[in-house]
Amino acid sequence: MLISFNFGEVVIENKEPKIEDIKKLAEEKRCPVRKALYYMEEFLNGPMCGSCYPCSLGSYEAKVRLQNIIEGKGVEEDLHALKYIAEEMLAGSMCKKGKDTAQFILQWIGTDVFSEHIEGRCPDRECLAFIEYRIIPEKCTMCGLCKDVCTFGAIFGEKAKPFIGGYMPYKIRQKRCTRCDECIGVCPTGALVIIEATGRKPVGV
Ligand code: SF4
Ligand code: SF4
Ligand code: SF4
Repeated sequence: MLISFNFGEVVIENKEPKIEDIKKLAEEKRCPVRKALYYMEEFLNGPMCGSCYPCSLGSYEAKVRLQNIIEGKGVEEDLHALKYIAEEMLAGSMCKKGKDTAQFILQWIGTDVFSEHIEGRCPDRECLAFIEYRIIPEKCTMCGLCKDVCTFGAIFGEKAKPFIGGYMPYKIRQKRCTRCDECIGVCPTGALVIIEATGRKPVGV
């Protein structure tokens, strides 16, 4: 939506996003599955006009399947279905917008990244269903900086006072953690890490 001023009046115009703009913003995501889902959601919200079935039904179905994959509920069948949908859209869409959308999906569906999501991994650590934030106890100096920035009350622990022992490293309550990423940048010792939710392997900070 665009708001402009015209001789003192506020004029509100509905400006449909262009395919090129959607593509550009989708490319800013690291994870190809997220790129595809963002593209599809924005396409459905704007340029998709609903005039032909391969595009209108295909886009909706692709969105649902991409959402499943991102939420960790994807199965091999979703990959076959997405490829089939994109090929049908490419062949049967009435205009360039539908064909461009199909090509965008086909460009990424062939990569191993989609299969890795089905196996429970997001190599780019962007899909929240596949990651967890953890504190490495040996590295935690109990400074409390992470707790100060966590607005979800997901971190608990007590700040260590000089010359007094008995303090425990801070911990994260996984059920409260929204994976907002606010804490990781403030930790002075690198004690906060992102781990794969299934493999429990630290994947770096
Ligand atoms: S391919 Fe073009 S005409 Fe057909 S539904 Fe998609 S945007 Fe509309
Ligand atoms: S990722 Fe966000 S919600 Fe989770 S512990 Fe860190 S600051 Fe709190
Ligand atoms: S910021 Fe790092 S060192 Fe400080 S309490 Fe949190 S995890 Fe521990």
